[in-house]
Amino acid sequence: MSVSTAAAAPSVRAPLPVLGQDVTVPLVTGGEVAYAALDYAASAPALQRVWDDVAAYAPYYGSVHRGAGYLSQLSTDLFENARRTVAEFLDCRTGDQVVFTRSTTDSLNLLAAALPDGCEVFVFETEHHASLLPWGSPHAAGRRGSNARVTYLDAPRSPRQAVETLERALADRDPHGPALVCVTGASNVTGELWPVRELAAAAHAHGARIVLDAAQLAPHHPVSVRDLDVDWVAFSGHKLYAPFGSGVLAGRADWLREAGPYLAGGGASRTVTRRADGGVDVEWHEGAARHEAGSPNVIGAHAVASACKALTEAGFDALVAREEELIRVVREGLADVPEVRFLSLFGDDAPRVGVLSFVVEGWNGSHFAAALSAEYGIGVRDGLFCAHPLVRTLLGGDPGTRGECGAPGAAPGGKSFDAVRVSFGAGT
Ligand code: PLP
Repeated sequence: MSVSTAAAAPSVRAPLPVLGQDVTVPLVTGGEVAYAALDYAASAPALQRVWDDVAAYAPYYGSVHRGAGYLSQLSTDLFENARRTVAEFLDCRTGDQVVFTRSTTDSLNLLAAALPDGCEVFVFETEHHASLLPWGSPHAAGRRGSNARVTYLDAPRSPRQAVETLERALADRDPHGPALVCVTGASNVTGELWPVRELAAAAHAHGARIVLDAAQLAPHHPVSVRDLDVDWVAFSGHKLYAPFGSGVLAGRADWLREAGPYLAGGGASRTVTRRADGGVDVEWHEGAARHEAGSPNVIGAHAVASACKALTEAGFDALVAREEELIRVVREGLADVPEVRFLSLFGDDAPRVGVLSFVVEGWNGSHFAAALSAEYGIGVRDGLFCAHPLVRTLLGGDPGTRGECGAPGAAPGGKSFDAVRVSFGAGT
C-alpha cells in the first residue's frame, strides 16, 4: 500500500494556536518527529488562549457562591459571566438556562433525569452512546424520567430520509403527551451534518421537544438555539478546545425546574430545615444552581467561556474553510489506495465537519492506527467510536466488540474490520 503525496497542501492557515503543536514523540524507526494530533473528535487540544486565561485567573482562585471574601466574589462573577458568554455563544432565548455539567454525557443524563413522567423518547440508532443510552435507563430506576418509553429509529441514508423517518415515528403519538427527540448535529463517526432545523420542525409539529447533541458540531460550526429552534443543546468543553471536566446543557428551564435536583447537596438547596418529626425539609433552587450541587467547577466554566470567545473571534468561516481543505487533502492523499473505504451514511460528498472514518481492507484498524503512531507520530482513533450500532450498519456486519467503548472488533469469519478515524479542528 502506498499513499499519494500529490495532494496539494492546504493554503488556509490553522485558525487558532493550540498547545501541544510542538510536542515531539519518539518513532520506532529511531529519532523523533513533531506529533500530529488528528484526533480532535475525541478530545481537542486546548487553545493557547484558554490556558492563558485559566492561568491569569489561577492566583485569584476562590469558591463560588459561598463567601463574602474578595476572591470568592471574583470567582462567582467569573462563573456567572461564563454562563452569560455560553448563552451568547449558543444564541439562547430569553429564559433559557445554561447549566454547567461535566460533559455532554453528563448533560444528556441530566436531561434524562428531568423528563416528565411517561415521556416518549425518539433517538436514531446512529447516535453516540452518550445520546443513545441515557433515556429510560434502568440504572435511573425510580428517578423522574426513568419510565420513558424509548423508540430507536433506523439509520437513515440521507438527511431527507432522517426527517421522514422521524415524522413517521412521531405521526402516531398522542401529541398531548410529553416527548423528546435526541439528535446529533454532526456524527462523531462520519462527521456528516444532520438536518437539525428540519428535525426540530418535525418534532415541534408533533408536539415533541428536541435536544441537540452538539459535542461534534459546536467546535466546528456556530450553533444557534434560536435559529435551529432546538429546546436544548449539550456539548463538552474538552472537544471545544477547553480542558477536561466541563460541559454544558442549555435550553428550556421548565422541565429542569420541575425535576428534582440532579445531585442533592449544597448549592442546589436554598433552605434546609429540621422538621418537628425529626426529618428534613428542603427547598431547592429553581435556576441552574438546582442541578449544580457541590462546589462548581469555576475553572472549567471559565475555560469553556474563553474557548467560546476565541472561536467567535476567530470566526467559524475560517474554521470551516480550513477543515474543508484538510478533508480534501486527506481524501486526495488516500484516493489511490484501493484498500481504503470511507464510511458515510449520506454519501462521501455530504457536508461534514473535519471528521473522516475509513476502513483499510486487509488491515485491522487498530494495527493501522498503531503503525501511524509508531512510525509517523500521527495520532488517530481506531475502533467503533462509542457508536456501535452505527459502525455496525456502516460496515454491514457485526463487528463483535470486546465490550469496551471504541474497542476493535472482528467480523464473522475472523476478518477484522474496525475503523480508523482522522479528525481535525482549529489548531490543525
Ligand atoms: N456525543 C458525541 C457526538 C460525541 O462525539 C461524544 C464524544 O465523543 C459525546 C457525545 C460524549 O462526550 P463526552 O465524552 O465529552 O461526554
